[in-house]
Amino acid sequence: MIQAAKDAKAILDGFGLAAKGEGRASPVDGSIMPGLAECDAAGLEKAIAASARAFQTWRATPGPVRGELVRRFGEILRANKEPLGRLVTLESGKPLSEGLGEVQEMIDICDFAVGLSRQLYGLTIASERPDHHMREMWHPLGPVGIISAFNFPVAVWAWNAALALVCGDPVLWKPSEKTPLSAFAAEALLQKVIKDFEPAPEGLSALLIGGADIGEALVKDARVPLISATGSTRMGRAVGTAVAARFGRSLLELGGNAATIVTSSADLDLALRAIAFGAAGTSGQRCTTLRRLIVHADVYDRLVSRLKAAFASISIGDPREPGNLIGPLIDKQALDCMTRALASARAAGGTVTGGETVRDLYVRPAIAEMRAQTDIVREETFAPILYVMRYSTFDEAVALLRDVPQGLSSSIITRDLSEAERFLSAKGSDCGIANVNMGPSGAEIGGAFGGEKETGGGRESGSDAWKAYMRRQTQSINYGSTLPLAQGVKFDL
Ligand code: NAD
Repeated sequence: MIQAAKDAKAILDGFGLAAKGEGRASPVDGSIMPGLAECDAAGLEKAIAASARAFQTWRATPGPVRGELVRRFGEILRANKEPLGRLVTLESGKPLSEGLGEVQEMIDICDFAVGLSRQLYGLTIASERPDHHMREMWHPLGPVGIISAFNFPVAVWAWNAALALVCGDPVLWKPSEKTPLSAFAAEALLQKVIKDFEPAPEGLSALLIGGADIGEALVKDARVPLISATGSTRMGRAVGTAVAARFGRSLLELGGNAATIVTSSADLDLALRAIAFGAAGTSGQRCTTLRRLIVHADVYDRLVSRLKAAFASISIGDPREPGNLIGPLIDKQALDCMTRALASARAAGGTVTGGETVRDLYVRPAIAEMRAQTDIVREETFAPILYVMRYSTFDEAVALLRDVPQGLSSSIITRDLSEAERFLSAKGSDCGIANVNMGPSGAEIGGAFGGEKETGGGRESGSDAWKAYMRRQTQSINYGSTLPLAQGVKFDL
């Protein structure tokens, strides 16, 4: 296999993009990737000022015309799916099919947003006053700051950018410092489309390469009314507080700790496949990764022994090779976190199978059988560790599922309709996502994506998530010649 850094350099050359100096080591083989110039305070000021200027024009551009820009972005993504998906793989270490899948998700959100550009519907409301009517209108909000995480280096930006752009908002993107090249290439594609689209103003989109400090400065700026931040709960707590202090709006997509309940009636073949992808896919580095498996005592031994065999034989290696289902962890820090978590699980009485380092940053997924939901199980460790717990009654399983600080995703595997419906009821899963007869990860565009509790409460990429990117205005119109007041109030001069 060609060195990852050389592979990345060739892709950047193909995009006509020049790197600067040396960057981070690729998780794929440790080769040093091309570097990029970082944004400083002056660069940030320039980008925000340009974004605020662009808003003056873009907010007055008709929604369907804004949609045309996003349609063209979807087209250029289609044409460049392979190199961009490959770059995502080289930088993040996810298997090529997932790198390509990530770009497909960008294309899907563009399609969704194009349709939406003609459907930014308000309401008409009955007025109690004669010769009056009321309506609700949605207006563009202003520049949107997007902070993204390493594990979906480009898709999460596209979820936000496609919706923000059709809603009339410019975008300012601070990508993860761990995956700047994918962001650089994706932004270049959008810039190309903007340049060739006359109604799009300069400054409509900007990329802010850098670390948390640039993110912090962006978050504090009152010219940016909405900050959409994806990452750890620690980051979200800092960002949410800073944005609230200036009465800005934040959309937070933070850590998860997904669980699956496997009931006694479950189809165990289906369960095995759903669990393997959910827990081990993307090396356990998805926010929706399955981390807690809650299994009925009647099927526990049969299922867990099959899972151990599957994890022991799963193909781990260079994510560019089609046969490999699991690539590397992102960096040494992630590997250390995994090692520490497994030590804590053992110290808490857990029995660990797997979890060893195969080579460098490549690890075998671990199964940690726990007697209780201890502190380490309640924490999100961003690595492939599946904590397995046994239950006897359905209520006990649901209580375990809910008893964590995070609330992103969940699923149940059962052939019992009543159990499935109880899981989906108000007394069941407390997560933003609840699936039946599948795993908790691998969402699709169209449904609102996001979660409760420490996951931050944000919703993106489907349903009415667009409303977060607009401001609502209630309008009352008097088409008569008298001025009746509401609630029968009299004020006759
Ligand atoms: P991270 O929190 O370390 O970094 C995320 C981004 O936040 C980066 O761009 C970083 O530079 C920036 N950042 C960090 N501190 C900041 C601050 N104080 N102010 C402004 N910006 C700041 O997360 P990560 O390691 O890149 O990603 C993994 C985490 O992201 C996991 O917890 C995962 O569950 C979560 N995640 C959540 C979702 C979701 O939709 N809920 C999706 C993907 C990832």
